Amino acid sequence: MPKGRAFAARLAHEISTEGKVMCPTCNTEVKKVKLIRNKKSKANTWAPKYEFKSMCKCNEKDIMAGKI
Ligand SMILES: [Zn+2]
Repeated sequence: MPKGRAFAARLAHEISTEGKVMCPTCNTEVKKVKLIRNKKSKANTWAPKYEFKSMCKCNEKDIMAGKI
């Protein structure tokens, strides 16, 4: 679908110039969130693991519940 791809590219450009990203699915701002989760290592110690996720209405409940 060449037309669809062209539209997506144009949209990506527009949102990058505005400095924020809108989710095309739920139409809310996609925020970068930093998640800290403990991960058990082989040495049987807990080490914090840092992750950056993009969060919007589509997945914020899952992120807050620790599912993602
Ligand atoms: Zn969304």
